[in-house]
Amino acid sequence: MSAELQDSTLLCDQSLIDGVWCDARSGLAFDVKNPASSEVLAQVPDMGAVDARTAVEAAAAAFKDWRRRSARERMAILRRWHQQIIDNADDLALLLTLEQGKPLAEARAEVLSGANFVDWFAAEAMRVMGDILPPADNSRREWSTRHPIGVVAAITPWNFPSSMVTRKVAPALAAGCTVVLKPAEDTPLSALALAVLAERAGVPAGVFNVVTASHGAEVGGELTSNPQVRKLSFTGSTAVGKLLMAQCAATVKKVSLELGGNAPFLVFEDADLDEAVRGAIAIKFYNTGQTCICANRIMVHERVYDAFLERLARAVGALTLGEGTGDGVTQGPLINPAAFAKVSSLVEDAVSSGATVVTGGGGDAGLGGTFYPLTVLGDVTPAMKVFNTEIFGPVAPVYRFSDEDEAIRLANDTPYGLAAYAYTRDLGRIFRLNEQLEYGMVGVNTSRFVSETVPFGGVKESGIGREGSVYGIDEFLETRYLCLAGL
Ligand code: NAP
Repeated sequence: MSAELQDSTLLCDQSLIDGVWCDARSGLAFDVKNPASSEVLAQVPDMGAVDARTAVEAAAAAFKDWRRRSARERMAILRRWHQQIIDNADDLALLLTLEQGKPLAEARAEVLSGANFVDWFAAEAMRVMGDILPPADNSRREWSTRHPIGVVAAITPWNFPSSMVTRKVAPALAAGCTVVLKPAEDTPLSALALAVLAERAGVPAGVFNVVTASHGAEVGGELTSNPQVRKLSFTGSTAVGKLLMAQCAATVKKVSLELGGNAPFLVFEDADLDEAVRGAIAIKFYNTGQTCICANRIMVHERVYDAFLERLARAVGALTLGEGTGDGVTQGPLINPAAFAKVSSLVEDAVSSGATVVTGGGGDAGLGGTFYPLTVLGDVTPAMKVFNTEIFGPVAPVYRFSDEDEAIRLANDTPYGLAAYAYTRDLGRIFRLNEQLEYGMVGVNTSRFVSETVPFGGVKESGIGREGSVYGIDEFLETRYLCLAGL
């Protein structure tokens, strides 16, 4: 497989601790497989608590020097990392497609959007500033100052193996923190390749460490209990996020959590239906439905329901399912057989409770065990499991509503609060929706609004903190106060 890469050294089979590419202390390794074919792409170290501890010690030692580097120097190193990613985007995209399954064009777009975070936070390194405070007593002078928090543990999911890494590591490094990253078991190769490029860019030994593991709990246990780790930045499921947050409590670490979603996609009676269908396709079937901001519940006003459903099914028919490296493929496989089983059972539950299959449905799409047919379900109701479960697959359930109040009530009827979408041309309604939808991000008449400049994150059980934007670096800084008296 490495022969297909222009630079074969980007396919790594070792982890990076303290500037040394190494195996697990136990000698164990695990397979990384192509989800489309089950082909083994590489074996990487199956690290445990002892390796994670070594990485934390390396990061703690490296922090002493890294935090003292000038902001300009950190910016320059991050800019070189950005350039390395751009220069190697084709190889990074191929690695990403092979380990994750998404189509090559989507993988390349992810690599480039991930690079944008590095570029953005390189500049943000220069904008960490404090304040001069008005003193309560004129014999004093007072300042608030901002400092890197220390060693950061970063844990990332498999659905965006490249951009979830840069969205955490770049702001951490820009702030002056050092990082121990544990990428997802299914997709460690993108993270390791990014670490190779960071090294080439001049990121010093110990500043960015990568610990690969097939049993996240053991490494996670060390990262969340080790008192030298001062911050956990986690992206993944709400269930694991809650567990890690509880584990961090014992040492009172700062946490930021980017967790699951259950996005409502509201189509009102005055919407431009063609635009709404385009938006639904773009966000429901993006990454084969495996994103936290995917439209999970498509809710349509009863007056336009039939027309929308018919146009949506037609648009789904124009998508092409296949191996991510294939020509013209727009939809890849699910990440693993367990994901396929979960999606199948959700569709079975809905159909057995009265949902109609408009297109797609069960089976394996004739391509092998991880390819789920692109599916549209009609007559879906809140009583079905799909209503409050992250589907994480190419299944579009379409619900009916009869007025705005009902739409808002249904949209908010979930513990999640990440992204919501609405299609309407009524300006008053747009303001009402913005105020009443309990979501961290709302897209009106658009479904693709994520970039490095926007504050990405959720409310309720979708998370704490924001990534990207001018706020993203705050997660890696702490504010301190200096008071000078006796003047
Ligand atoms: P996950 O099962 O929670 O895993 C996420 C990461 O946590 C992986 O690296 C995983 O390692 C690790 N992990 C699992 N159990 C752990 C434990 N006990 N201790 C420490 N680490 C542990 O989630 P996923 O299935 O990879 O990703 C999908 C989820 O992520 C969805 O819920 C999605 O909505 C969410 N997500 C959210 C955002 C956002 O920005 N809000 C973005 C992308 C994805 P292993 O791989 O080794 O299990």
